[in-house]
Amino acid sequence: MALTVDNLTEWINAFAQKVTDKKDYLSELDTPIGDGDHGNNMARGVKAVQESLDAKAPADLTAAFKQIAMALISKVGGASGPLYGTAFLEMAKKSKDSTEIADLFAAADAGIKKRGGAQAGDKTMVDVWEPLAAKLASGSLTQAEIDEAVNSTEEMIAKKGRASYLGERSSGHLDPGAMSSGYLFTALIETEGI
Ligand code: ADP
Ligand code: MG
Ligand code: MG
Repeated sequence: MALTVDNLTEWINAFAQKVTDKKDYLSELDTPIGDGDHGNNMARGVKAVQESLDAKAPADLTAAFKQIAMALISKVGGASGPLYGTAFLEMAKKSKDSTEIADLFAAADAGIKKRGGAQAGDKTMVDVWEPLAAKLASGSLTQAEIDEAVNSTEEMIAKKGRASYLGERSSGHLDPGAMSSGYLFTALIETEGI
């Protein structure tokens, strides 16, 4: 399974739609364990991504990933902006030698962990990226597996990000960045020809 500018654009547009539809829900998830802005942050970011891709058609996959990364870094803000930005910058770098989805996601997952210092179990987006990048490497990914990864964050105690300030009281709430990352993977598996 390989990415092209066309199927990448389709995937990102589907992600943008989900984030926009779920903007309020993502901010609600961020309210008890954060500062209530994750949906607004992400919606602003995906709007900027679409405006960038509309304004300038990327010449190749590497250019497309870079445009997406720069729009996210400049507009999402917070903790998640630089982390999503890093994911797409790592995909841009990797795309120079591979367009395989498994390779691109492995690079993105490693980049997020390096940038944010979180590990699996810390109740962050890493709890979605790490297991699901591994599923893509094994050749299949289902919605049930995406849901399982997102839901696994509910009982976890946060070790990174704002939610970590709550210590044990962070348990019992889904992680908002894990949820938005889940939408990214759902949009991927729903994209035709991927
Ligand atoms: P902020 O917390 O600055 O308001 P957001 O609300 O946009 O930023 O994003 C919060 C999300 O970012 C969390 O739900 C979590 O998934 C993710 N996150 C925060 N810190 C880290 C980290 N160090 N590593 C990975 N993900 C992180
Ligand atoms: Mg927040
Ligand atoms: Mg914030």
